[in-house]
Order: sequence, then structure tokens, then C-alpha cells
Amino acid sequence: MLKTEGVVLKELRYRDTSKILSVYTKKYGKIAVMARGAYRPKSQIIANTQPFSYNEYQLYRGKNFFYLNQGDIIDSFYSIRERIERVTYGYYMLELIDKSIPEEQENEKLFNLLIKGLTVLSSLENDYLKFIVAYELKFISFLGYKPYLDKCVLCGSFNKNNIKFSIYEGGIICDNCFVTDPFSIQVNKEIYEGMCGLLYTSLEKISDVIISNDSLYKIHEMIVEYILYNIDRKKFNSLNLIKSLQ
Ligand SMILES: [Zn+2]
Repeated sequence: MLKTEGVVLKELRYRDTSKILSVYTKKYGKIAVMARGAYRPKSQIIANTQPFSYNEYQLYRGKNFFYLNQGDIIDSFYSIRERIERVTYGYYMLELIDKSIPEEQENEKLFNLLIKGLTVLSSLENDYLKFIVAYELKFISFLGYKPYLDKCVLCGSFNKNNIKFSIYEGGIICDNCFVTDPFSIQVNKEIYEGMCGLLYTSLEKISDVIISNDSLYKIHEMIVEYILYNIDRKKFNSLNLIKSLQ
């Protein structure tokens, strides 16, 4: 029997009464968990097998799946479901994890970021876009692709009068280096300072970072491209809903 904390990322119905879950766990990374009987009306594990649900799980390892033996709820994050913005951004956070990491690759830092993110989100009243941009920047950093913002990633120049962000090089580049990446994206002072601020400010304190919605949206679009490039994916499905909210 294995014990670990975990958050349900996704549920899929299996046959009449069972579910196959994608669960992000602290000890084993992302795993597929068979929850037998989760759809039975009087099932004891209904609350433990819904997206966002954060539990202490007892599992055993089978041939193709882990099997759920028992779940003790730590936080259902129920209040995420009380507001359309929270649930929409929340599903995007789950999809980010689900699509970005291979199975059974443990990353405790990323796990803690997810828990912290869901905790902050569950009582967030405004600043949703600012929150998600800060989350994205931290997420991609903890995944191992921290954007290089200190100086030109190519030549090391500190001159920031005229800079672009290069998705392919993973950081800012100076005007002497623009030719290296013709697809790099112009970054003005507000965008640059916003990125630095949101990367290094903790999620509870993002209201300290002053930035316009327009600049936030530009960072969001750029960082989504940067994440997709690094995880080798084409798109996130949950982003369509976020767009319609904006
Ligand atoms: Zn340079």
C-alpha cells in the first residue's frame, strides 16, 4: 500500500460505475488511478475523485494503473466552483500540469505551487488575469524553463533600452542580437518590469505589482507560446473559455 497526497486533474468515466483519474501526487508525480465504483450513488469516494479535490490517498499499484483504496480529503477547493472565473482559470491550471509532465516524474516544487495556486484562487475576487500570468511564469520556471530576464540571453548585454523576448532562446535579447531570432517579440518597459515583478512576487501578493491589462494580456499570450514550445504541444483546450471570459 502506498500513501501520498494528490490532486485530481481529470476524470474519465470507465464502464458503468468506475472512473480513471489523472492525479498529480506529491510522491509519484502524475499517475493514472482507477477508482472503482466512484459513480455508484452511495460511493464513499465521490468527493475524493472530482477535479480539484486534494486528498491523502492510499493506493496500490496494479499492472496498468494505480488503484484507489481510500482517500481522506484535505481540501475539496469547493469555492473554486462558486465563480465562473475561478473554475475556468482553475481548469487551466489543472490542464497545464496534465499536459506538461510525463507520468511518474516527481516534482515537489511544482506540486506545492499547484496547492498554493488553488488555495489563492479559491478566495480570489479580482485580478484573475494577473494571477494566472504570475502562475504561468512560476509554473514554467519550476518545470525547468525559467525565462532568462537579467540580461541578454545571447550576448550578456545589460542594455535594456530596446529588447525583445525570444521564445526559442528562452529569454530577453538585446537589439544587437535581434537578427538571431526573427520571431522574437518586442517587450516594452512595462511588460519587462511586469514579467520580473510577477515572476518574483508570491501569489498572495500580486496586487503589489502594478501593470495594465493590455500589458498583462501580451505577457499571457507570450508565455502561453513559450510554455507550449517547451512542452512540445499545440494548444490548451481550456484557454478558449478564458478568452471568452475576457
Ligand atoms: Zn545580445
